[in-house]
Amino acid sequence: MMHANLFPDCVLPACTTPVAEPGQACPECVTAFGPMLRTGGAPLTEEEIRERDDMTNAIYQHRAMMRGYRTTPAPEQQT
Ligand SMILES: [Zn+2]
Repeated sequence: MMHANLFPDCVLPACTTPVAEPGQACPECVTAFGPMLRTGGAPLTEEEIRERDDMTNAIYQHRAMMRGYRTTPAPEQQT
């Protein structure tokens, strides 16, 4: 898609709503998360956002891989 990268995505992970500046939260996230969003600090840079998301994706991939190696059966439920 040609328009995919005209605007950066919302800073919140997994939200792809376009925003005007990197590091901003979209209005829907601001409404949804309200006071849980810390405002007034320096917004994340595009590189910081990429590093954060790369780390999260790496952890997900590691967990998925480790599930494949699990050899201990889950404990049986005691009744
Ligand atoms: Zn958002």
